[in-house]
Amino acid sequence: MLNWLKKIIFKKGANKRNPSLINHFDDLIASDFWPKNKLNQLAEKRLKDLLVWSFENSPFYKKKIVEAGFDPYLENFDWKNFKKIPITTKSDLVNYNSVIQVPPSKFGKTFYCESSGTSGQVLSFIRDENWDSFIRAAQMRGYSWYNVNPWDFNIYFWGYNSSFLKKLRLRILDFLVNRFRIFDYNEKSIRELKKKGVNAVYIEGYSSMIYEMAKLIPKASKDFKKLRLVKATSEKIFPHYKTAVKQAFNIELRSEYGAAEAGIIAFECPEGKMHIVEEGVYVEVGENQELIITNLVSKSFPIIRYQLGDAVVLENESATCACGREHRIIKEIQGRVGKNIYGKTKLFPSLTLYYMFKNIFFQYNKSIDYQAVQYEKGRLEILTLEKLTDIEKSWVIHESNKYFKDEVTVKFKVAKDFRLEKGKLRDFISKIE
Ligand SMILES: [Zn+2]
Repeated sequence: MLNWLKKIIFKKGANKRNPSLINHFDDLIASDFWPKNKLNQLAEKRLKDLLVWSFENSPFYKKKIVEAGFDPYLENFDWKNFKKIPITTKSDLVNYNSVIQVPPSKFGKTFYCESSGTSGQVLSFIRDENWDSFIRAAQMRGYSWYNVNPWDFNIYFWGYNSSFLKKLRLRILDFLVNRFRIFDYNEKSIRELKKKGVNAVYIEGYSSMIYEMAKLIPKASKDFKKLRLVKATSEKIFPHYKTAVKQAFNIELRSEYGAAEAGIIAFECPEGKMHIVEEGVYVEVGENQELIITNLVSKSFPIIRYQLGDAVVLENESATCACGREHRIIKEIQGRVGKNIYGKTKLFPSLTLYYMFKNIFFQYNKSIDYQAVQYEKGRLEILTLEKLTDIEKSWVIHESNKYFKDEVTVKFKVAKDFRLEKGKLRDFISKIE
C-alpha cells in the first residue's frame, strides 16, 4: 500500500479511537529535549494533580494518603509524606480492584484492560482514553527517534499464550509457507521471510522471539534494507540477544520497558540508554533495587507508589546522554524479583541465574540459552537448547558454586524447547513455590 494512504488510514483510525493522541504526541515531542528542571516541574505538577484526584475519587488511595499524613492540597508538593504513602502491590490492585477503580462514568471514553502477571493473578481495570492515548503517544515518540512512523510496514511478534514453539510457528505462518522449526533452516521458508522483510521498517515483539528469528536469518541485513528499528519488550534482554540481532540486521536491538498498568516506563534512545518517560511516570527505587512506579496519567485506575516486581539500577541523577535528552536513565533492568531458588537451608533470588550466565557470557564470550527449573530444594535442573560441553558445564558449576556455595547442586538436561509460564518465557520456573 502507498505510504501516504497508510498514513491517512492510521490518522483516521487514531482520531476515532484516541482523539487526544496527536495532542499528547505533540506535547511529548515538545518536551523531548527539555532540561531536567523543567521535566521535574512537570512531573511534580502531574503528581500533585494525580494525588488530589485520587484522594477525591479512589477510596483505596484516600485511606493510604490519610494514613501517611500526606496533604494533597498543600501548595508545595509534600515530598516528605509522599514517600510515606504505603507501597501498593499487584495483589493489592487485584484484591482492592473495586475501591481503586474510579467509575468509568467520570470519563468520556474508556477501554477494558487485562494483564496477567508472573504471580498468576489476572488484573483487570478500565483505562480512560487520555491515559490510553498517552501510552500510544509515548511509543510513537520512541519510534520517532528512529525515524519510524506507526503506520510503516512492520513485523509483529506478540501475545503468545500456549506452547512457545507452537505459537511461534503460527505467527510465522503469516509469512512462511512451510513447516517451521527453530533449527530447521528450510530454504524456502527463509526465502519467504526475507521477501516480507524487504518492506519491513520495524520489527517488534517479545525479545526471545526476535532472538530466535535473528538466529534463523543471520544475514538478513542484505534483504531487510528498509529496517530502521528492532524493538523488544516484555522480557529480559540478554547480551547474546543483542549480539544475534546486530549480526542479523546490522542494527542494534532496542527495548521498550513497561507494563499494562504502569504504562511505558522507559524507551531506549539511539545511544543505547533507557530514558524514563518522565512525563508519564514517576520512578523511585526501593529496598533491594525494587522499582516503584507512580503513573502520572492513569486517572481511571490510579497507580501510586506501585511495586511492579522488577529490580532495576538507575544512573546517577547527573548522568548525561550523548543523544541530548535529559530524562533519567535506567542503567540496568535486572528482571523479576520474587521467586526464590531454594537451597538446602537458604533462599536465593532467582536473579542469581541472570548473573551466573551473564558472567559466563562476558568471561568466555559464550551465550547459553537456558531455563532453570526447580522441583526440590537444594537441586536445580538447567535446561539448555544445545548440549553443553564438559568445559561449558564446568563454567556453570563454577558460577553456581560461587553464588550458591554447597546449597544447590545443578543437573543439566538438553531441551527441545522451553516451558512457558503465563505466555511468557521465563528463565526460572519453580515447582516449589
Ligand atoms: Zn539518550
